Amino acid sequence: MKEINLVVTTLNTTKSEEIFAAAQKLMPGGVSSPVRAFKSVGGQPIVFDRVKGAYIWDVDGNQYIDYVGTWGPAICGHAHRDVLNSLKEVLEKGTSFGAPCALENILAEMVIDAVPSIEMVRFVNSGTEACMAVLRLMRAFTGRDKVIKFEGCYHGHADMFLVKAGSGVATLGLPDSPGVPKSVTSNTLTAPYNDLEAVKQLFADNPGQISGVILEPVVGNSGFITPDAGFLEGLRMITKDNDALLVFDEVMTGFRIAYGGAQEKFQVTPDLTTLGKIIGGGLPVGAYGGREDIMSMVAPAGPMYQAGTLSGNPLAMTAGIKTLELLKEPGTYEQLDKITKRLADGLLELGKETGNPICGGYISAMFGIFFNKGPVHDYDDAKKSDLSKFSKFHRGMLERGIYLAPSQFEAGFTSLAHTEEDIDKTLAAAKEVMSGL
Ligand SMILES: *Cc1c(COP(=O)(O)O)cnc(C)c1O
Repeated sequence: MKEINLVVTTLNTTKSEEIFAAAQKLMPGGVSSPVRAFKSVGGQPIVFDRVKGAYIWDVDGNQYIDYVGTWGPAICGHAHRDVLNSLKEVLEKGTSFGAPCALENILAEMVIDAVPSIEMVRFVNSGTEACMAVLRLMRAFTGRDKVIKFEGCYHGHADMFLVKAGSGVATLGLPDSPGVPKSVTSNTLTAPYNDLEAVKQLFADNPGQISGVILEPVVGNSGFITPDAGFLEGLRMITKDNDALLVFDEVMTGFRIAYGGAQEKFQVTPDLTTLGKIIGGGLPVGAYGGREDIMSMVAPAGPMYQAGTLSGNPLAMTAGIKTLELLKEPGTYEQLDKITKRLADGLLELGKETGNPICGGYISAMFGIFFNKGPVHDYDDAKKSDLSKFSKFHRGMLERGIYLAPSQFEAGFTSLAHTEEDIDKTLAAAKEVMSGL
């Protein structure tokens, strides 16, 4: 690694603080989504002014290298010129039709071509919506009400999924949310991630009642956790044996850990898949899709109702199409792998060098480290991390111009805009911060 001189100044965040103070009187917790409030790392959140490529600028004029990428969509880099230009063009024709639009066909075809399990797709407006709808579809298709999810996996904020969920729920240490009826979550069965025996037991205890299993094929919502060898294959077999459905929630991993998502990477094909984040290119989009016989149950082709005023709108479709076009260029995933490997390997090496027990890894453009000697196979392992060390690490990095997800329980994201120089700057900052922990 090259030697880099970092200028560390105490971060001036006066304007951020003013805006956030005002926001707290206007919106619950001052934010539109909980993790943004920095509660788990302490300190004040940074208020952004603009984003471009691998960088963000706050309202006080500070620049940061960004590893959040608006939680995933910015895989080509923020505000990519091609995406913005096609948006400007389409914008002139109007923002929403509430009627069929040819752009939906283009994005649908791209998604169907890319994702092995998807033969037909329905567009919605968020990952939450996609997961909510897929759950209804699982129940409609099988005529069974129960579902298995894994501890620490996040599938959006629909009632039935707010049981041992990850992401903001993990970050804030909320058990289950008030307002979620017991009668609803009584149909949600949970197992530890990577534990096939627990899944088998649930099927044995609930014969003929389980519609299927939903999971993040690579977890990003309780930190970065990978499936053990044979775990995804095992789930495929167990669900088949029980006439239940296997659903990959690829809202985060879709088009991120491979163009065809985790199912391409691990060669395990689920029955249904949810998508979001990247396929919207930074605009609100979600999607669910899968086997044609199952998707044919969705209204108006079939009886399972699901609808959306803004679903499939031309702006969101355009941002998605452009983003996938950019990702489809040869060499993109090799580039993402190279950059992310440099970062993840570098951080793990620095952990050793500075005597901080950390573990972690990466796949393609997704990475994570735990302040925990590891290995981390599930959410219980993840929770053993040293959260106070993580908070200090997070703050130290922020002060050195590196923006990391403000929680130990979130994965990190790289993009095609991150350069080796960005990574080396990040590692130089990490070396200083870890040495002082
Ligand atoms: C982000 C995410 C969701 C929820 O998507 P929203 O667009 O935030 O509603 C669901 N599942 C996974 C795996 C996610 O990462």
